[in-house]
Amino acid sequence: MTEGRLLGKKVLVTAAAQGIGRASALACAREGAQVIATDINADLLRQLAALSPRIQTELLDVRDALAVTALAARTPALDALFNCAGMVANGSLLDGSEADWDTSFDLNVKSMFRMIRAFLPAMLAHAQADGAGVSIINMASMASSIKGFPNRCAYGASKAAVIGLTKSLAADYVTAGLRCNALCPGTVDTPSLRGRIASAADPVQAEKDFIARQPMGRLATVDDISPMVVYLASDESRFMTGQTLLVDGGVTI
Ligand code: NAD
Repeated sequence: MTEGRLLGKKVLVTAAAQGIGRASALACAREGAQVIATDINADLLRQLAALSPRIQTELLDVRDALAVTALAARTPALDALFNCAGMVANGSLLDGSEADWDTSFDLNVKSMFRMIRAFLPAMLAHAQADGAGVSIINMASMASSIKGFPNRCAYGASKAAVIGLTKSLAADYVTAGLRCNALCPGTVDTPSLRGRIASAADPVQAEKDFIARQPMGRLATVDDISPMVVYLASDESRFMTGQTLLVDGGVTI
């Protein structure tokens, strides 16, 4: 892999303490970016900060509008923002609760609205000032407008909204130097997935079922996904905007 693909860039990652966010923060730092890794888990953030001098950490609950605007006010303009935070609520429309629906939309979509409203003005000014493009990467999923899955009603609907938000931003700011793309992973082996497997009635079968739906015959690792974040944050993706990038082990062939 070429070194330094993100040299000189400032990248902020939400939900960076574990899973895909953590792997992406580390991958961006390895490529030379100054990374602001944010999360609600202070212990895991401390462990992450110890791994790279290029990673600075900030406690941030993306549901907290005041905290989001306060962080944006004290942060120099970003080159890239990776909105990774999100959660899975199980259930069909009839099984899932209204609270699941509201929580899913708040954490999976409205958090992006908050983050982008807070950070975008400085990013656009930065793009204008030095002619460089800036990039927003929104975490969607293959479970979205891409494909329906059983028991993922609130999740799939909220991730479809992420794709709509992404395309809207791409259209509004394409001439202002912003690229905005959505990442759509298949099933990735992360702590949250392990939690879903462990809480199933039959965890062994649940893991087999997750693997069986991926034609490549395995779960994705976080490092199957993080290179895409590096690519979208880098100038290599300078002619790409408004896209949904699927990394799904062949589920949607
Ligand atoms: P994970 O559960 O392993 O990690 C989630 C992180 O989010 C944790 O560090 C947690 O502390 C943090 N977090 C939770 N609530 C937060 C909040 N309010 N504000 C800030 N941080 C908060 O997650 P993951 O599996 O790596 O998933 C990351 C993203 O990728 C999510 O948006 C998820 O929907 C998406 N995704 C995951 C998969 C998968 O199979 N794991 C597949 C497709 C998409």
